[in-house]
This record gives sequence, C-alpha cells and structure tokens, in this order.
Amino acid sequence: MKNYFFTKALTSDGWHNNVLICVNDQGIISSVTADASDQNALKIDGYAIAGMPNIHSHAFQRAMAGLAEYSVSSQDSFWTWRDLMYRFAAVITPEDLKTIADQLYMEMLKAGYVSVAEFHYLHHAPDDAPYQSGAKMSHSMTRGAKTSRTLIGSVKMSHAIINSALRTGIALTHLPVLYNASGFGGQPLKEEQKRFSHNVQDFCTLLSELNIKQDNYKLGMAFHSLRAVQEPDVHIAINHLSNLDANAPIHIHIAEQIKEVEDCIAWSNKRPIEWLNDAVTLDKRWCLIHATHLNSDEIRMIASSGAVVGICPTTEANLGDGLFPLSDYLTRSGRFAIGSDSHISVSAAEELRLLEYGQRLTLQQRNITAAATKNTHTGAALYHEALKGGVQASGFDGGAIEKGRRADIITLDPKSALLAGTPDEKILDRFIFNGSQNMVNNTIVLGRLCVKNYRHFDEDNITAAYIELVEKLQKRVSLRHE
Ligand SMILES: [Zn+2]
Repeated sequence: MKNYFFTKALTSDGWHNNVLICVNDQGIISSVTADASDQNALKIDGYAIAGMPNIHSHAFQRAMAGLAEYSVSSQDSFWTWRDLMYRFAAVITPEDLKTIADQLYMEMLKAGYVSVAEFHYLHHAPDDAPYQSGAKMSHSMTRGAKTSRTLIGSVKMSHAIINSALRTGIALTHLPVLYNASGFGGQPLKEEQKRFSHNVQDFCTLLSELNIKQDNYKLGMAFHSLRAVQEPDVHIAINHLSNLDANAPIHIHIAEQIKEVEDCIAWSNKRPIEWLNDAVTLDKRWCLIHATHLNSDEIRMIASSGAVVGICPTTEANLGDGLFPLSDYLTRSGRFAIGSDSHISVSAAEELRLLEYGQRLTLQQRNITAAATKNTHTGAALYHEALKGGVQASGFDGGAIEKGRRADIITLDPKSALLAGTPDEKILDRFIFNGSQNMVNNTIVLGRLCVKNYRHFDEDNITAAYIELVEKLQKRVSLRHE
C-alpha cells in the first residue's frame, strides 16, 4: 500500500484540493479523498491528472530523429524518407534497440506518457538469416521453451523492448508486426524489408513466446499495413491471438498516404477502410493508425465500429501525410488516441496542440475539438478524448483518477510560470496551449513513482549509454544521400 498526497487533483468528478490517493500493492487506486490531510503520505508538489497512453511507437527511429531533414530529390516524400529509415533499421542489434528504447521510454515518462504501444516490426537480428530458413533447429530460449532457429533473433529483439519497459517503469503494449509483402496482392519483399518478415506460422509461434503475464505488460499484435499482408494470413493471426487473449489489441497502419489508397483501389476496387471492414470485424480491439485519407462513408464506418484511430500529428506533419478529418469524425462520436510514432517529438501536449492547430488552419476556425465534442474547453476536450481512446487501444485501464483504476498519474508543476494564476477549469488548456516548455514534474505508473521532480530514477545511466551508442551509430550508418 502507498499513499500519495497531491496539492490538487483532477478526479473523475472534477478538480479538488489536497487530495489523498491510496494505492494497493497491485498498483490500483483503492481510495481518493479530497480536502484530506497528508499524514503518512508521500507529499507530491503537483496538480495530478491521469497520465496519457502513447499508442504508436517505433522505438529504433528515436535515434534517427532530425537526421532526415535534408533534400534527397526534388520531390522528397514519405517514400524517400522510408529508404533512409530502412538503411538505419538494417544495422540495429538487440543491444542497440535496448539502449535506444531505454532513453525513449524514459523521455516518454518525463513528457507525460504512462504507457507505450510498441508497433514492433524490427524483427530478427542483423546477423540471422530469416528468409533462408530451411530446416528449423530447436534452440532453448525464453522460459525454457523451444524456439525455432528462425525466431531466435526475433525473440531477442522483442525482449530488448520488453526489458526497456521493465527498466524504465513504463507500461508496455507489445505489438509484434506481421509484415510479409512489399505491395498489395502479396508482392515479394524487397531485400531491405526481409528483416521485418515471418511466415504466418512463425509469427503465431512468436506471439505465443511473447505471451508473458505481467502487470505492466500486455501482448497484442499489428498488421504492418494492407499492402504488407494477405487476407488468409490476417485471419490465421487474429484467430491465434484471440486464443491467447480474446481482448488483445490489434493495430494496423492504414490510409496514411494517397498512393496507398490509390494502390488499394487498383488492387481490390475498394478503399482501405472499406476493404478492412469487409474482411474482418472492426470493433473495440482495433486501432487504426493514421487513417488520414478517409471519405465520409469510411468516417462513419470507423466511428460506428467502436475502433480507435491512432493519430500521430507531429510525425504525420513531418512525413507530409495529410490531415485527419477530426471534426467530422468527432461529430459522429469517433474515438481517437495519440502516438509519437517516429519520435521527432516526444510530448503528449505537443501532439494534442498540433492536432488542433492542423484543423484550425484548414477550417479557418478556432476551438474545433471543443465544438465537435460539445465541450467548453479545447485543452480538456483533447486530453479527455485522447485518454479515453488511449485506454482502449493500449488495453491498460488507467485514464482517470478514481477507485479501481490503475494508478497511472502525472502531475503538472504548480511552480511553473506557465501555470501561474490559472483557474482549475483552464489548467488542461494551459498545459496544451501555453508553449513547449515541459511542466510535467512527476510521473507515477501502476503506483510507482518513476519521475520525481523532473528526474527519472535511472536517468544518468540511461542517457550516458544512449549518447555513447548514437555517436557509434553515426559511424556505422550514413544517412547522407549517396
Ligand atoms: Zn508507424
């Protein structure tokens, strides 16, 4: 049992002062008391709010953030960026991935995220040969299980991610990715994509290997995109995952680029969401990442299915994807969550701010999210909608400070000049719309204080190892145009 005492907290029935929150040994909130005394409690100087789930991450890309901002051709695009990213991905070992993810997950905790959904396609290790599998040799791996030779590297790569989550304290929704074609209709993989690939039987074995029972860990899975999978494999993988956990989350990149929509229509005569909705039962287990290019039928389809759209505003802006039709979608009670994807920014507040600003710039109006959700305050509307969608897409039952929920809590610094003189109802507005200086001073995940007064408990060691690695990586891979 741990007791925390906060200067102020946003509980499920509004803001209160001097709030005592008791957390049981499993990290679940057992009581919330306003106007309490701080006896026997750890006093936290901060305004407590529920912490944000980050529902889309490719951890290795953190180490190349900001290194692809130069011109490769006269028409640079998502696709020229992808070639650079493949070059970087090719050299990352399990040890490298662990060091990068340690830094990234720590940064997420410091920026207000309490969980991460890792959309993990960097399978195999650089030195194994997954696509020339041949005879499968048994090899003793995790928990004494027998793992085929073709999966040894993949299990190691996944364990790098799992161990980073354990070290930093962030909750992890691990989403191994099925990726076995380079284009619609099962086109053969390119050489540089082979590292990401498993046949569907091996993929199911990998899921079983990673089905670990821990409080801060949840196994789901992802399909890389419609262009990277074929329908029979989609059904086999869903059935296998459902046998492990009938509620496990399923994520997919979809409709991110116009070219992808056009290719899907040329192949199937259907738009991507239309195709997916016909092929599977879209429901609350699904998280559709990006879903940028939608027509009104598709907006209606997603909203009525109960699925979440995973929007990654800073990455979508960086890659020139386009803007999600947020206003129409929210008007139909559609659900969304946010992710930092390529990690050119690691800040929940910045993702939400850019999401709203993109809409304002195109619609030439203000307070779009507030109006579409019938709220008065835009910051509060953005934050609460993203929490609701994030809880659903991550599978972790936080998202509110109330009895029975996970104690996934962050605090905003009452001493920050950016929060000075703020009435309670405008605190979330100021958090999101008052500049980019971080005001998250404490982060608690499942009852554990991971960031205290702006410092992670293992910050110095994690950052020193990351800096050393990134300097070495610059020598191993060139992202300059060649
Ligand atoms: Zn992505």
